[in-house]
This record gives sequence, structure tokens and C-alpha cells, in this order.
Amino acid sequence: MKRVGIYTGSFDPMTLGHFDIIQRATQIFDEVVVAIGEGRGKSPLFTAAERIELIETACKPLKAVRVETFSGLAVEYAKKLGGKGVLIRGLRNSSDYNYETQMAQMNQALAHDVETIFLATSPAYSHISSSLAKEIAYHGGQTKLLVPPVVATALENKFKVRSGQ
Ligand code: ADP
Repeated sequence: MKRVGIYTGSFDPMTLGHFDIIQRATQIFDEVVVAIGEGRGKSPLFTAAERIELIETACKPLKAVRVETFSGLAVEYAKKLGGKGVLIRGLRNSSDYNYETQMAQMNQALAHDVETIFLATSPAYSHISSSLAKEIAYHGGQTKLLVPPVVATALENKFKVRSGQ
């Protein structure tokens, strides 16, 4: 049976930390689905369509990566994809660990057959988050050490448009 890894998240926008997890996941799974959650109560900087395009562009060199959006529970989405879907999450530090283990245990309670695996972030990326990348871009700082080149350009353009430059 094809092994499918499902990497869920907001990806607003994708960072080098996310890219690293996706790349490593492609070594483990036959296919990696990057699943953008259209969550409740979040007001994203990038639309879902923009986030899909950025991830697809950044992941072009990788084989067997698909990008989709989903709404609702991740476990229901995993079941809908069929096969033996495994949720992938990245762990940067102890606060990710605390939050993510609770989430994985809750998901196990909701659906026994949907497993979660954690990949520890590569040390070079453990300080990176989408929100900090946005904050830095907002203040006109360089983000090319934090996000893929296509995302750095998109962040620059987004804040240029917003400030009417
Ligand atoms: P969410 O809103 O679900 O936290 P994110 O897009 O922020 O969505 O993160 C998606 C997943 O990627 C989470 O498991 C998160 O811990 C992980 N992640 C975020 N940043 C990094 C990073 N720099 N290195 C490794 N994993 C990361």
C-alpha cells in the first residue's frame, strides 16, 4: 500500500523549516500531501490560493509532493484521503512538543487508525516561524535566511502593496 504522509499546517507563509520537514518526509513516504488548514478565527496574510502557489513553486525540485487545502478535522481529512495516511508534524522546541503531543493524543482518541509522526526540526531552522518571518518583512527586514526565495519576494511585495509603495 502506498504510504502517504500528510503535513498539516497554516503555512502562512511556508518557511525553510517547513521546507526541511517536507524534504525529509519525502525520504520516508511514497507521497507527501502538504495540507493547508483553513482554520477558524485566523486571518491569514496570504490567501489559500497564494499559499498553494508558493509551496508548489518552492517544492518543485521535490518528487511526489502534492498541495491541497482542507477544512474541518485533520483526522477526517486523513481518512478521506484514503490509504494509511500518517499525519506529520514538526517539533522545534518544548512548547511545540507540549502542544503537539496533546494534539496527537486527541487525534488518536478521535481516530485510532490515524497515526502522527514527529520530525525534529534541523537545528539551523529551529528559531524560524511564519509569524516572525512576517514581522521581519513588515519592518522591511531581510527574510531570505528564513523562507524560500519565492516566499521572500512574495512577503516583500505583500508589504509594499499594504504600505502603498
Ligand atoms: P500551525 O498553525 O498548524 O501551527 P504552522 O504552519 O505554523 O501551522 O506549522 C505547521 C507544522 O510545522 C507544525 O507542526 C509546526 O510545529 C511545524 N513547524 C513550524 N515551523 C517549523 C520549523 N521552523 N521547523 C520545523 N517545523 C516547523
